[in-house]
Order: sequence, then structure tokens, then C-alpha cells
Amino acid sequence: MKFIDEVSFSVSSGSGGPGCISFRREKYVPRGGPDGGDGGKGGDVIFKVNSRLNSLFDLYHKRKLSAKNGQPGLGQKKSGSYGDDLVIEVPPGTIIYDKHSSEKLVDLEEGEITFLRGGKGGRGNCHFTTSVNQAPQQAQPGEEGEEKEIRLELKLIADVGLLGFPNVGKSTLISRLSEAKPKIADYPFTTLTPNLGVVKYADHDSFVIADIPGLITGAHEGVGLGIQFLKHIERTRILVHLIDVSGMSGRDPLQDYEDINNELKMYDEKLADKKNHVPLASRPQLVVLNKVDSISEAQVEDFKLSFAKKDIQVRTISAVTGEGLKTLVEAVGKKVFAEETQ
Ligand code: GDP
Ligand code: MG
Repeated sequence: MKFIDEVSFSVSSGSGGPGCISFRREKYVPRGGPDGGDGGKGGDVIFKVNSRLNSLFDLYHKRKLSAKNGQPGLGQKKSGSYGDDLVIEVPPGTIIYDKHSSEKLVDLEEGEITFLRGGKGGRGNCHFTTSVNQAPQQAQPGEEGEEKEIRLELKLIADVGLLGFPNVGKSTLISRLSEAKPKIADYPFTTLTPNLGVVKYADHDSFVIADIPGLITGAHEGVGLGIQFLKHIERTRILVHLIDVSGMSGRDPLQDYEDINNELKMYDEKLADKKNHVPLASRPQLVVLNKVDSISEAQVEDFKLSFAKKDIQVRTISAVTGEGLKTLVEAVGKKVFAEETQ
């Protein structure tokens, strides 16, 4: 799989505060004993999954993120305060790699993990009294924090994403093509659950296709569940754009094609400043006219011609009768595996 969302930066946990060297000073107590407190523990680096996030965009441009150091110990046996933890929120499906060795360190689907521990606070001189040394001038330094350079990658939901207005036949198509359904538990999403199917390609290859409900005009502005849809589609590499030519919807197929591609473009414009955004409009897109069983052959030819006039190559299928599905799978599979070997 090729990854489309990736960031690198370094993280460090806080150092522990040093222990304190101090002696009790009280009226009428001429030689008070040692009362230096311990240093506070340094802050941890914690990664926490936030299922409302769908990308690593918030972490772009970050170079170094640090937890706070612990505070030094104080007199009167007071401990220094703990350094604040650094909590980094990431979307589900985030994988953390060592930047240099590329070793996979953590695969985050839910919950949180302590990635680096803060250093322990040093012990104050009140701990160092011995029978021969009642006034120790000795305290521990705090333990140093740790630092690591890491790379975060966001897993793809699927190789192929299905685009298309409601009722064009996305669910029907996926159920016709799928050999199996991947475990949905591997893909924790809150608002929209993609419907995933594994499609067998050639003898021993297969790819995952995702039908994500919710794409309508105005999606890029967040109309309906639109923005969620577009964020999900962003985690697919190849798009299959399904268009209904049955006339059942009352809409014009060519207009549908343009409306949806406009949504993609406007979404891309919104994200134009974001590094690493692979524009949705530039991803491979196979345009597929569905429901050809419901119209005459002459009408199918007319539709093909109207798309050809705009230089748009189309395929024709019927998700219901199965017409054209074999060649569609071949064409999609070819693209999936061509991309992968790049
Ligand atoms: P989705 O909203 O894009 O997932 O669309 P669905 O798969 O739920 O299909 C919407 C309606 O179109 C259903 O009634 C399907 O039976 C019908 N449909 C889907 N594909 C075809 C097709 O190839 N031919 C015909 N005649 N109807 C289809
Ligand atoms: Mg559906």
C-alpha cells in the first residue's frame, strides 16, 4: 500500500527536576537536619486516538514537540511539581515508525499509549543522611527525558473508493463484487461507516473497495455528512465514479459527473495549503455508467457519445445483471497494482 498522509517530527519527554539541598532553619533549632525535597517527574509523551480526526494535517509543520520538565525540589521536604504531559491527538489508523530505522513502533486504533516516559525527579538531600554524615551536601540530579524522531503514517481505508450520488448503485455494486467483507472493527469511524468489500483480482490478488455514504452537492462545505465523506475518500487511492443512467433520479448523468468532480475540486482548493495533500481531483478515476439494463442500447450509445464529446472515457455496467463487471474488475485491479509497483 502506498500512503498518502504522513508527517515526521521529534518528540521528547520532560526531564525530572533536580533534588534540593536544603537544611531546616527554625527558631531555637540551631542545627536543623537536611530537608531538601525531591524533584518532580518530567512529563510523558502520550499519543491519544481521537476518532473525530481523519488526517494528520494538524501535525504538519511541527518539528519538535516536548513535554514539560519537572520542577526542582524545595526546602521543607517539598517535592517539585510534575512536568505537564504532552498529549498528541491522532486519528484512528495512525502508525508510528522510528524515523531512521523505519521500525514500526506503534499501531494506534483506539485509546492511548504512553510513548515516552518523563525522567524521574532527583532525590533531595533529606534522603542522604547517614550515621556519619548528618548534613549531606548531596542531592540527585533529575533523570533526563527521552527524545525520539518519528514518522507518522495514516493507513488507507481502502485501495479503491466509490464515488457517486445516493442511489446510483454503490452498495449494489460492492455486494456484487465482494468476495468477503473485511472486519469493520479494524476501521473505527464514528459518523460514517464505510461499507468495505474485498474484490478478488486475477488468481491470487485482491483489493479493498470502499462505499462511503454521504456524498451530495455542497459536500465540501460540510452539507449533510459531506466533509466526512471527502475525508474518508481521501484515504483511498483510486476512485471509481459511478453514474446512474436509468433516469430514475431525474438528474442528467453528465451533470452528475461534473457536480461530483466540482465537489472534489472545491475540497482540494480548501486544502491547497496543506502539505502532502494529494488532490482528489488528480487521483485516477474510472467513470462507470450504471444501470444500463434499464435503458435501450441506443440510449446507452447516446450517453457514451455525450461523455466522449467531453473527452471522458466511460465504461458501462449493470450492477444488477452483472453486465460489464468482469472487465470493470480487471480495469480497476490493473490500476491498483500498477500504482503499487511504482
Ligand atoms: P447507493 O445509494 O449508491 O448505495 O445505491 P444502491 O446500491 O442502494 O441502489 C439504489 C437503487 O438502485 C436500488 O433500488 C438498486 O436495486 C438499484 N440499482 C442498483 N444498480 C442497478 C442496476 O444496475 N440496474 C438497475 N435497474 N437498478 C439498479
Ligand atoms: Mg448505499
